[in-house]
Amino acid sequence: MRYIYDLTMEELQTTLMPLNAPKFRAGQIFTALHQGGPVVEISNVPKDMRTWLAENFNCDLPEIITEQVSRDGTKKYLLAYRHRDDQGQTGDAQPDLIECVLLNQNYGNTLCVSTQVGCRMGCRFCASGKNGLVRNLTAGEILAEVLLINRLNTTPAARGVTNIVLMGSGEPLDNYDNVMKFLRLVTAPTGINISARNISLSTSGLVPQIKKFADENMQVNLCISMHAPNDELRQQIMPVAKRYTIRELVDAAKYYFEKTHRRVIFEYSLMMKDGVPFNCAVNQARELANLVRGFPAHINLINLNPLHFDSNAVLTPPSREIAMAFMDAVIKSGVSCTMRKNKGDDIDGACGQLRLRHMEQN
Ligand code: SAH
Ligand code: SF4
Repeated sequence: MRYIYDLTMEELQTTLMPLNAPKFRAGQIFTALHQGGPVVEISNVPKDMRTWLAENFNCDLPEIITEQVSRDGTKKYLLAYRHRDDQGQTGDAQPDLIECVLLNQNYGNTLCVSTQVGCRMGCRFCASGKNGLVRNLTAGEILAEVLLINRLNTTPAARGVTNIVLMGSGEPLDNYDNVMKFLRLVTAPTGINISARNISLSTSGLVPQIKKFADENMQVNLCISMHAPNDELRQQIMPVAKRYTIRELVDAAKYYFEKTHRRVIFEYSLMMKDGVPFNCAVNQARELANLVRGFPAHINLINLNPLHFDSNAVLTPPSREIAMAFMDAVIKSGVSCTMRKNKGDDIDGACGQLRLRHMEQN
């Protein structure tokens, strides 16, 4: 059975053809679906049409397994989808768990969504990749995360989700077609209508897909997980670095800028290894700055979030002094750089950790 949130307005129109419905019905249904309420309650559409949709499509939003609220107001949700195999068949298998996080910022509310159940990129510091990839999420499943959390957090006084980051579990460019369709659905003017400029996609660095994404001309912000100033170090923590060099990655980032005129953000998590700086010594800050100088790039630093399952962790976050010295050195080398706060870190830290803890306990 198809998932109703996977449908574009045009696809809805085609779907409704056998019912001889007037053309505007598809628009009404699309708009109502994007408000996140149940299909059977779409009040401006005839009841028999709602019943037909409910009988012929999977119309379920994800189920909320847990909701945690942090001291700083960050909300972290563990959501469940019915498991589907590669052919899209649902069975009695355990549900697929994903997480998403809502952060309130002074400019709006940012939702961090997952694009895959698990991840196959295997970065050493990341909880999402620890057990590999279970499956891709469909476009509608990624969209439904936004619709559900938006509805739950929209109040008469406040807009719900205003910004989206694709930084939950999964490598978005490893699920390319579904993620592109999601971006088109979530920016559709008759739907939830989030501006592309308010959306950021983060990738571990799949070079061919970055170029393809640039050619889509979407105005979405691109973030690249860099995490090391040279290939040798990067290969130690990110298997993807064995496939593409940093040089190729920076060239792809420049191509993205040339096509979209959006400044590219490089994410860089500061890490100590066995108690000494792994990627956060001052000379490495200069090495990093040299890589990206000369085009509109920005470096976003974050302290490593230690993984709860790794009690003898080899990788740990640096002290504040080391982190600040690194940031100063990047800025003095002529590259714009800021430090991101680890929001919500009293509630299961980095993306992927809530899901992993839940799976280990059940
Ligand atoms: N797969 C994509 C997007 C999801 S991860 C990517 O890798 O870019 C979002 C960001 O969090 C990435 O920059 C990722 O490298 C970083 N990250 C993952 N685990 C982390 C941890 N334990 N501490 C700090 N940053 C982490
Ligand atoms: Fe996957 Fe990103 Fe985690 Fe790497 S950091 S394992 S690409 S989710």
